[in-house]
Amino acid sequence: MAKIKKIIKTIRIEADKCNGCRACEIICSAYHAEPKYSSVNPARARIQVMSYRLKNIWLPVFAGEHAAAECMGRNTYVIDGKEYPECDFCRAACPSRDTFKEPDSGLPLKCDMCESDPPLAVPKCVEKCLNKVLVYEEREEEVEEEIRPEDVHIGLQAMIDKYGLQKVTDTFSRFNAAKRG
Ligand code: SF4
Ligand code: SF4
Repeated sequence: MAKIKKIIKTIRIEADKCNGCRACEIICSAYHAEPKYSSVNPARARIQVMSYRLKNIWLPVFAGEHAAAECMGRNTYVIDGKEYPECDFCRAACPSRDTFKEPDSGLPLKCDMCESDPPLAVPKCVEKCLNKVLVYEEREEEVEEEIRPEDVHIGLQAMIDKYGLQKVTDTFSRFNAAKRG
C-alpha cells in the first residue's frame, strides 16, 4: 500500500500553568456555534477544564473518540501531591457522564482542531490561552494511505442506528455549515 506524508497536528497541555479561566471553553463553543460566534455555551466546548478549586487543580482535556460503553477505570492517581480520578484524564464521551456531549441532542463532541478553509494559524483555544498552557505542534509522519469505503459505511450505519437519520443528518449539516462559515 502506498505511503503518504501527513501533517499530524497536536496540542500539548502544560497543565501546571492552567488557572482555570475557561477562556478555552468559551472560545471553542463560540467558534463552533452555528452561525459562528452567535452563542457561547461552554457545555458545547470540545475542551473541558476538570477543576477542583479547593485543591488548586485545573486540568484541560480535549474531546476525543466516543465510547459506546463505560469502562472499569475508577482508579485515583496522585501526581505532584494532587489526587485525580481516572475519568478526569479520559477524552471520551461515554454513558457514565455528561462530559463531551452536545447538550441538546446528546451527540458526542470531538475536537476537530478548528479545521477550516482557509486553515487557522493555530486553533482557537491555543490562541486565547494567555497562560500558554496549550501549545500547538505539527509534525510530519509517513502513513499508509488507506481509504476503506466499507468502514465509512459501517460507521455511518452505526450512528444512524444509534441516533436516527434525522439527528445524524442535522449534525453533518451543522459541521458543513461551520466549515464553510
Ligand atoms: S484558557 Fe488556558 S489557562 Fe484558561 S482554563 Fe483554558 S487552558 Fe487553562
Ligand atoms: S482545537 Fe478547536 S475544536 Fe479543539 S478544543 Fe480547541 S478550540 Fe475546540
